[in-house]
Amino acid sequence: MNYLLERVAYLKGLMDGLGVDDSTNEGKILIKIIDVLDDMVDEITELNASQVELEEYVQTIDEDLSNLEDKIYGYEDYDEDDDYSDNIQYIEVECPHCHDTVYFADDIFDFEDELLCPNCNEIIYDEDGTLKTDN
Ligand SMILES: [Zn+2]
Repeated sequence: MNYLLERVAYLKGLMDGLGVDDSTNEGKILIKIIDVLDDMVDEITELNASQVELEEYVQTIDEDLSNLEDKIYGYEDYDEDDDYSDNIQYIEVECPHCHDTVYFADDIFDFEDELLCPNCNEIIYDEDGTLKTDN
């Protein structure tokens, strides 16, 4: 942002150096234009400062929100037992009975139990983990 300030200051100096003053119509206009530029730099500097403030504020809201999400979804102990809750993969299976596409968390295959289709309640996998078909 400082480079804008510097450039306007440079223009002011240049105007003085070239002896531009309000004795001519062009001089009057140039002085007014540089005044406007000055004000614009002020405005932009202010905007920039409040933008930075706003970004910081949004960031703290974001952090608060993600803390809240962790609490709500129970990920608070995430780091302590990450081998349990880390990276659950979902396996897509087409039910051989109703041909609906269903999803199972991969850790469900660790249990020796039948897997039922949530749609038609038929067995998709039996206790051995073998895919059941109608054939
Ligand atoms: Zn089914």
